[in-house]
Amino acid sequence: MRAVETKQGLDSAGIERALEQLHALVKARGLKSSATREAVARAALRRRGHFSVDQLVADLEQSEAPVVHPATVYRVLPLLVDAGLLQVTLISQGQGTLYERAFEREHHDHLICTACGKVIEFEFEAIEVLQRDVAERFGFRLTGHVHELLGTCTACRD
Ligand SMILES: [Zn+2]
Ligand SMILES: [Zn+2]
Repeated sequence: MRAVETKQGLDSAGIERALEQLHALVKARGLKSSATREAVARAALRRRGHFSVDQLVADLEQSEAPVVHPATVYRVLPLLVDAGLLQVTLISQGQGTLYERAFEREHHDHLICTACGKVIEFEFEAIEVLQRDVAERFGFRLTGHVHELLGTCTACRD
């Protein structure tokens, strides 16, 4: 088991690779390419850590991108998840859906302090194996999982 370091954001070459992956899905689904969708994707890929739709909308307002309506951002995000660029995360905090980059990041799960909101990202292969076992036993083919452990951190207990 180990903590997953929050590394740097994607560099510009990484963002282009991610956009290629998005374009492949857009094409496969017979959608038209869209400058707005690409602006949302770029803003999301530039973000570090966990972010809300509102934060992303604020980023877009500050950028030189064309004006993007929040409803459009809501509509685009599921496509970015399907394309493997983002994943939904930190659901149990109840602040609405948060997202984080999944593209070119290793899989990790979350430990959340319910007192201060501190989030630790970790990777534990044993948990991954057990989850696959559970799915197999019930005849499920996993497409993903959200695993969150809730508690209080050492600082909050002192
Ligand atoms: Zn805490
Ligand atoms: Zn995370």
